[in-house]
Amino acid sequence: MSIADHRDRAKPLPTAAVARALARAARAATIALAALAAAPAFAWSNHALSTRPALEAMPELARLAPVKVETLEAFLAAEAPRLEKLLDEQERWAREHVPAYPPRPDALRFVAAGAVDAAELRRRFVAAVRISPDARLSLFLQRQPGEAPDGRAPMAASDVTALPRDDAVDAVKFVALRTGEPVPPLAVLATASDEPDYGLDLGLWEDNGTAQGRAYGFGKQPFGNPALDFGTQAPFHMGFFHESRIIYAAAGFLKRTYPEYRIHLWKTLAQHALRTGHEYWGWRFAGWAMHYLQDLTQPYHARVLPGVGTIRMLWINALHMAGWPKARNEAVTLVSNRHLAFENFQRTAMLTAYRERGAGERGGAAGLIGALRGAGGGADPGYADDGPRAVVSRRAADAADALDHTIAASLPARYVSDPSFEFGASAHGVDLNALLSRDDPAGRDALMQALAPRMADYGAYTRALVRSLLAGR
Ligand SMILES: [Zn+2]
Repeated sequence: MSIADHRDRAKPLPTAAVARALARAARAATIALAALAAAPAFAWSNHALSTRPALEAMPELARLAPVKVETLEAFLAAEAPRLEKLLDEQERWAREHVPAYPPRPDALRFVAAGAVDAAELRRRFVAAVRISPDARLSLFLQRQPGEAPDGRAPMAASDVTALPRDDAVDAVKFVALRTGEPVPPLAVLATASDEPDYGLDLGLWEDNGTAQGRAYGFGKQPFGNPALDFGTQAPFHMGFFHESRIIYAAAGFLKRTYPEYRIHLWKTLAQHALRTGHEYWGWRFAGWAMHYLQDLTQPYHARVLPGVGTIRMLWINALHMAGWPKARNEAVTLVSNRHLAFENFQRTAMLTAYRERGAGERGGAAGLIGALRGAGGGADPGYADDGPRAVVSRRAADAADALDHTIAASLPARYVSDPSFEFGASAHGVDLNALLSRDDPAGRDALMQALAPRMADYGAYTRALVRSLLAGR
């Protein structure tokens, strides 16, 4: 709880009427600002595309022997008594270190004894780590674009992800893994780094109309539309840690974002699995942990309204409360459009980079792969538990305004400066990298230059996490 919260509580209010008026105003402000934060759910589209080059720059990972594929149930059966203790410790850590953490209800505590079968053990684990029971958790790999067939059976997207199809998922190919087969750690990590976007965090809030939402104790969804499927995962994949104090005072719910909880939970499980000979799950949990860390390098996941100053935010909020919602609605649409357009550009540029691979990493799209690999020079940072908040999201938040400006200046106005256009609904199949390369190479280069430092952070912090796991084995 912040100092401001204490002050608000301690100060007696003059009369009941004033108290009611203030409560009404606070509610209105909360509702208006909640809509401000109604950003789309995904950050970087397809994390695997970027994780792979980031980790290829680590010889210590490439040297590791392939790991043996194991079902989640087999891992749980072997480790259940130890996981009981581990998850208790993790819960203690989260309660102590994650601000505004919603404690896991004691009824969900992971208990090994008395589980009659593997399905029951899995059910208990899913509840204890509070992920969606619809998460597939199947054994699979994501193929790289252009990768030659390797004899593994193709797998339908619906066996891998609980989310509906979209452009990004449609473009991805999955293959099935068999229990016991050997697979390189890097392939497991890259594949798993995309998995938290496949439905792990869907419908977890009390007002999502799901059984898990009612049981998990996360409270009401802090922002976004609770009826919109994949919007429900957003507060786990964003970290609004660096807004101005007055914004938190008007909208305390913005403090309720939980990537730190997820990162530490999956990292703790990864460490345990690696130490106890369950390397496949070790690297798979590690991939889950890195997903949320990578999301925090996305400026639109680290700031509520990039490009909109505090005074203007409060002003459009005041207008909305006074009955003029237009400025608020336009600001939300523009930020959402820029967010989506930026991710479209990043995804299509990465796909182009993969196509051009081997043609030399000279710049343009291929320069992104260099940035992910750390070609810009300098040593990678270390990893610390407070890093996601103190460093990673801070760097993204600091870059947000300039990035927003570059996006507005470089992409066609229709996509990023027209509040009557909705990118998410109307821009299916658009390839912004190809479009700019054809019509405005200077605009493409400006965007590429703004994207490269974010990809450099993505790569550096991804490696930092893996290095800390390798050191702790
Ligand atoms: Zn995400």
